[in-house]
Amino acid sequence: MGKIIINKGYKFRIYPNKEQEILIQKTFGCCRFVFNYTLATHKRLEDTIWEITQGLVENGTLEKNTYKSKFFNKFSATKALPELKSNHEFLKEVDSNALIAEIGNLEKAYKKYYQKSKSNHKVGKPKFKHKESSKKYSTNPPSKYAKPTINNGKYIWETHIVSYENSQIKINKLGWVKAKLHMKMECIRIYGMTISQSATGEYYCSLKTEEEISEQKKGESSVGIVLADNPIIGLSNGSVFENPNEFTQLEQKIKKEQKILSRMMPDSNRYNKQKLKVAKLHEKIRRKREYNLHCLSKKIVNEYDEMALVTVKGIGTANINTLGLYALSEMIRYKAEWQNKLCEKSTISNEHIQTCSECGVINAGKISTDYWKCSSCEQQHKTIVNIAKNIHNVKREG
Ligand SMILES: [Zn+2]
Repeated sequence: MGKIIINKGYKFRIYPNKEQEILIQKTFGCCRFVFNYTLATHKRLEDTIWEITQGLVENGTLEKNTYKSKFFNKFSATKALPELKSNHEFLKEVDSNALIAEIGNLEKAYKKYYQKSKSNHKVGKPKFKHKESSKKYSTNPPSKYAKPTINNGKYIWETHIVSYENSQIKINKLGWVKAKLHMKMECIRIYGMTISQSATGEYYCSLKTEEEISEQKKGESSVGIVLADNPIIGLSNGSVFENPNEFTQLEQKIKKEQKILSRMMPDSNRYNKQKLKVAKLHEKIRRKREYNLHCLSKKIVNEYDEMALVTVKGIGTANINTLGLYALSEMIRYKAEWQNKLCEKSTISNEHIQTCSECGVINAGKISTDYWKCSSCEQQHKTIVNIAKNIHNVKREG
């Protein structure tokens, strides 16, 4: 059987020394500077011309806005970087790849804005980055050619980038940084790195990698999956995974500590201490949730070769944001990709909800979000499972 290449991400906690930490913080700042500077320049020139042209279209002077093609271009913006650097010496201290990547991020933000505007979605223009929200930068790995050695089918990453023996990762400008390498990497190449700091002050290094996997036989077992706010997952085979309620205690604790925080004097010592405490609790609950979602998605992907997936809002009562439905559907999608399995996401329609999966009759009117009975064949349905069965049937027939 053939081999195929997939993309896979790894995230490791890193422990920079004092000197490295200072440089990381400087890089955050410089990236923000370049992003905001480039955005300001662009706003002044291109956006203004575009807005004037747009005005002329609106009052009938011009037939259409042909200025559109001149929107933000990464390459021309990157050309301005050397001059920017000679005017602002501090930019020379940090990794230049990170600065270039920042211009790429701005291009992505502009692309999203213009594409969405075309399809009449309301998306805001790129915004200036604030200090608190920009503790992250991306760069290239220090060596393009680092490859693991393969010994008895095992990948050994003692390379120019990662060393398991010394428990460290090499990052541009920083050199070797201590890291907790809790997972064995099985990738054949590393092509991107992101350095970030969490709200609780911890540092992380994420690696974008390519992994080689064997092609698998497809379509031996298939399933329809519905992700709803509560219960969290329904499968076409009748299984339902309920949303575990184990966070209630922790959530109450967060509420309590948040209340204490709100009564404190902002920016006082005690306030900052309490703020960190609250951030740590949020981080704890986020990690627990993420862990649960990883287990669930892994279980499903391991079991099935073909998956048809929809997300539904409005079934149940839980808060959608806290459950991370999108995060879960993404996990299923990329885990399926890692195993060369098929996962197709589609959108939910009324037909999916109102069709009886048993006899195929569409039951008009409002369907209960919990249980309902088909008016034709009198089959009792659990709503979420019925939707999953319909999704599955559509997939099989299509
Ligand atoms: Zn029926």
